[in-house]
Amino acid sequence: GEPSEKPTPPKIARKKIDVVAEYEKSKSKRKENANLVVIGHVDAGKSTLMGRLLYDSGVVDERTIQKYKQEAEKIGKSSFALAWVLDQTGEERTRGVTIDIAVNAFETEKGRFTILDAPGHRDFIPNMIAGAAQADFAVLVIDSSPGEFEAGFNIRGQTKEHALLVRSMGVQRIIVAVNKLDLLHWDQDRFDEIRQQMTQFLTTAGFQSKNMSFIPCSGLTGDNIVRKPKEGLVPWYSGPTLIEELETAKPVAKAIEKALRMTITDVYRGGVTNPVTISGRIEVGNVQVGDTIIAVPGDERATVKGIEVDNEAAEWAVAGNNVQLHLAGIEMDHLKIGDVVCHTDSPLVPLREFEAKILAFESLTPMMIDIHRGRLNASGRITKLVATLDKGNGTITKKKPRHIGPGSLAMINILVTGAPLPLEKGSKIVLRADGLTVAAGVVE
Ligand code: GDP
Repeated sequence: GEPSEKPTPPKIARKKIDVVAEYEKSKSKRKENANLVVIGHVDAGKSTLMGRLLYDSGVVDERTIQKYKQEAEKIGKSSFALAWVLDQTGEERTRGVTIDIAVNAFETEKGRFTILDAPGHRDFIPNMIAGAAQADFAVLVIDSSPGEFEAGFNIRGQTKEHALLVRSMGVQRIIVAVNKLDLLHWDQDRFDEIRQQMTQFLTTAGFQSKNMSFIPCSGLTGDNIVRKPKEGLVPWYSGPTLIEELETAKPVAKAIEKALRMTITDVYRGGVTNPVTISGRIEVGNVQVGDTIIAVPGDERATVKGIEVDNEAAEWAVAGNNVQLHLAGIEMDHLKIGDVVCHTDSPLVPLREFEAKILAFESLTPMMIDIHRGRLNASGRITKLVATLDKGNGTITKKKPRHIGPGSLAMINILVTGAPLPLEKGSKIVLRADGLTVAAGVVE
């Protein structure tokens, strides 16, 4: 054929499964997976709390934790043992879920959870954005000790910045862990004060009150994480533990019948029988063995040879699943982290110019920017400031503003001037300029 013609990938028997119907049938049997991102000011106790969650839910065995305790005591930091749990499971994590966002999974009787997190990483914000784009919930960890909540909550603190970021990336549900209350003898007044201030702030950030919850807890002692506090310790609180709250907070329903979209988080060789494997989370739609796919902005086709959902072989997968796809008929170098997997008959057509609803972190004018979508980015320009919007109800507060101030919600026009980016309506984007995150939001 013509040199420009793409080779046809091999045909693999396709069972023509009605995936939507199969999914409905399997619902009661399969545990639904929810992704969560952990956010909060430095030293709020994110690693400790997550280590506690993994330890008390039985992911980490007793021998490992004892080894960490001894090592931590040797350096005089016994409390570090829990935080190390995250790193350990990080190393041992199976290939495939993702490479640059630390991933840990745990199960309870009622649910399956994947923690997308990178606490301790120096370059935390880009990691967090990548995590937030895939998250169903955010767990916001707050250090309740005197002065510390206030430090995280001031202009430079990360409490506000992180909460705004996850909200502008589309996360609707936030669980606030009011942490380190062991240091304050479980002071109810302090808990109420933090809850009141945070409710006010989260409301202006665009969270609905029914989607916020507050748990008084201590990651260090484990009270109200997986286990209830001893009787009498927190007499004023009879609400759920953190894990109970996670179990009841169902992820937002996914559009499993729509056109397939999955952003690649990893590409690797799966061995002799599976020369090329990609992994990621299906954002929209469904896929089955035998389907022909492309990874936009690339245009090479491939056949799905095999599927794994949560590391178990499957014939199909739907939105919300973390999957690995084994591919035939494509070379590894035609697949990039950040590419969007689509069916060949309903591919994403990258937008060049579009409107976006964004939250500004810095002052915005018509200016040069870098547009980030997951792990991909391209240069671009803000061409027009369309309007500023009310954060509560989204109505227009000012048309054609001269500039958009930090903290404002706005509609702007963006032109991609660099390489094509896989952007369409609903894509989550982050805008950066001079190494700073200046805005984040969603393509309209
Ligand atoms: P991160 O930076 O948010 O990941 O915070 P870490 O988990 O590394 O914790 C920072 C410090 O706070 C460490 O010294 C922890 O031992 C301590 N810490 C974390 N959680 C608690 C808690 O619930 N109570 C107390 N008393 N200390 C805690």
